[in-house]
Amino acid sequence: MSDCFIPYGRQWIDDADIAAVTACLQSDYLTTGPAVSAFEAAFAQTVQASHALSCHSATAGLHLAYDGLGLKPGQCAIVPSITFVATANAARYCGADVILADVDPHSGLMTPQTLQAALAELQGRSGLVAPVHLAGVPCDMPALSALAKEQGLAVVEDASHAVGSLDESGAPTGACAHSDAAVFSFHPVKTLACGEGGMVTTQDAELADILSRTRSHGVVRDAAQFERAEGADEPWWYEMQTLGWNYRMPDINAALGLSQLNKLDRFAGRRRQLSQNYDELLVELAPHVLAPAGRPGVDPCRHLYNVQIDFAAFGLSRSQVMTGLREYGVGTQVHYIPVHQHPYYKALYGEKALPGAELYYERTLSLPLYPLMADEDPERVVRALGRVLGL
Ligand SMILES: *Cc1c(COP(=O)(O)O)cnc(C)c1O
Repeated sequence: MSDCFIPYGRQWIDDADIAAVTACLQSDYLTTGPAVSAFEAAFAQTVQASHALSCHSATAGLHLAYDGLGLKPGQCAIVPSITFVATANAARYCGADVILADVDPHSGLMTPQTLQAALAELQGRSGLVAPVHLAGVPCDMPALSALAKEQGLAVVEDASHAVGSLDESGAPTGACAHSDAAVFSFHPVKTLACGEGGMVTTQDAELADILSRTRSHGVVRDAAQFERAEGADEPWWYEMQTLGWNYRMPDINAALGLSQLNKLDRFAGRRRQLSQNYDELLVELAPHVLAPAGRPGVDPCRHLYNVQIDFAAFGLSRSQVMTGLREYGVGTQVHYIPVHQHPYYKALYGEKALPGAELYYERTLSLPLYPLMADEDPERVVRALGRVLGL
């Protein structure tokens, strides 16, 4: 039996983070101030995007990006069924329909083949495709984006898991070479923590301008953009020109985000090291337990270590394995329940068979992965897994 519990994920907050937040609390700005601008500039530089717009969560960022790209009723967003529900829900906020696409059963990723199959459901409608870099593994963006462009669809990457990942060209996720925008999450379980927080990156200046307004009520404060000319001489004047939301990131959260971003290399290095340790240890448990799939040529910064286990081959349910691991002090989680199996989406679109997503879901289990894990923890986890499975 273990002494300390290893959760499946955990943030790493150090004294520098606490000092950064404290300095913000002692400053004049609690919301939209210098920390927001500094975090956005540093993030844009890190992911090689020309624009980075912070917002209060990735959910808000997805809504802003979809809306900014014109998603509206009568249109569709094509979303992989293996993702957090927010990727799909943001399309519903825009009044658009969701087409849930199948995924590769081992990696859980949308592939050119599964996107192609989903495109058949478009039936002439326009909209967008939102690939998800599940667990931090970049999707085949050149191929997905080529298919989307053929149909005139916009592309938004849900990069909530993928800060620090590199694609096959060596470009960081967020550089948007093959998409209109990428959206990141800074929920504490993700690689960088803000409390709540999100970021939209893009190379499109016009889209960035739209989002800078819609994230703050649709209000314009720049006199050069006023429709009412006299407004320029009235110091109180601002104009709401389109409908927007309050999706701003507080300066307190941005101060934490910037301080965390300074440690991205360390966090990512640690995630890569721990993942490699797991990969080597799991060879012993193959073929009934498989290490997470990567993709050739990409260099993921893994957010999740999502193994595939053939539970039936062991005569065990996943619940029994999770409970057994908990008794050894090992926390696990399941990412994700397929979106098409949630009652809300079943009520909207009926039963849908997505065999790749269902097989992925049946076998997936996320083992603990976070930078503060001790060097010996992967071995402890794999040993516990072997015992629970009776290996
Ligand atoms: C966490 C997550 C989101 C939502 O992020 P929030 O910042 O919590 O809104 C969206 N998509 C995926 C794939 C996620 O993992």
